[in-house]
Amino acid sequence: MFKPFRTAAVLGAGVMGTQIAAHLANAGLTVHLLDLPAQTGDKNDLVEGAFKKALKQSPPIFYTQKTAQRVILGNYDQHFDRLANVDWVIEAVVENLAVKHELMARVEKTVRSDAVISTNTSGLSIHAIAQGRSKAFRQRFLGTHFFNPPRYLKLLELIPTAETNLQVLAQMEWFGRLYLGKGIVIAKDTPNFIANRIGIFVTLLGVKALTEQGYTIEEIDTLSGVLVGRPKSGIFRTADLVGLDTLLYVADNLYPAIPTDERQDLFQAPELMRKLVETGTLGAKSGQGFYKKV
Ligand code: NAD
Repeated sequence: MFKPFRTAAVLGAGVMGTQIAAHLANAGLTVHLLDLPAQTGDKNDLVEGAFKKALKQSPPIFYTQKTAQRVILGNYDQHFDRLANVDWVIEAVVENLAVKHELMARVEKTVRSDAVISTNTSGLSIHAIAQGRSKAFRQRFLGTHFFNPPRYLKLLELIPTAETNLQVLAQMEWFGRLYLGKGIVIAKDTPNFIANRIGIFVTLLGVKALTEQGYTIEEIDTLSGVLVGRPKSGIFRTADLVGLDTLLYVADNLYPAIPTDERQDLFQAPELMRKLVETGTLGAKSGQGFYKKV
């Protein structure tokens, strides 16, 4: 029998970090939600701003307003030592290997020796994120890939590496099912795992159908949404929810990671996506994406 996690730290208060923190709080955990300190003003400005926005999200990410009190906000400069008191650390920062890798070095110095550490990466190599860390750390490290929005989407992909302790994987599987209400799939540590390899392919095909075949956004969403069994939204509404910058990172990370895949070209990010990101059109997080009003 495993011990349930009681405390957690979520690193990154973006689209996913805030919602993962909320879902863990819903499950009864005390959660430290940390992000970069603000360059000017109060050092907690960034995380507080993100949290305030998340509280207004619809549908709501917390079971009740009171649940939100289980989330304690902080920043990496002043509050990183809180990681010494948690059972589980989840990294949910920007989809960039160097950033995640560097952060893990810091996590290793601070966490308890029995804490589990995981990453919410969409598709970077789990092995590479933990490279350079001690064997003991790598044994307690795995991918825990939540889907957006984590309170409502039931899938949790668990991605162990060859070194992840099987007891750690079993504990996460048990906890995910019983406490977080998830259906679990154990995926392999291959570029973009499985759900997102399919997911990004479908998204990129959708964008190409728009730019190369003259379909409209609305038509493609109709063809890929409710009518084919997706609960709410088609390709473009989903892309706006995920964040176009994150999707572009995912595509750009995936492309060079699959040089021998004969379908590699199909995973090349379309110019339109790059242009939108360059102009700050990022989807819900910036207020406008493929749709003018997100
Ligand atoms: P986001 O852009 O909303 O948030 C990223 C966070 O990273 C921000 O809070 C930012 O302050 C922080 N950050 C930026 N640079 C940093 C640095 N140098 N050091 C530390 N922190 C830094 O991104 P997101 O959508 O929340 O994605 C977070 C992770 O979850 C990514 O790995 C992403 O691929 C993955 N993911 C995203 C989704 C989704 O739907 N958006 C779904 C599943 C997994």
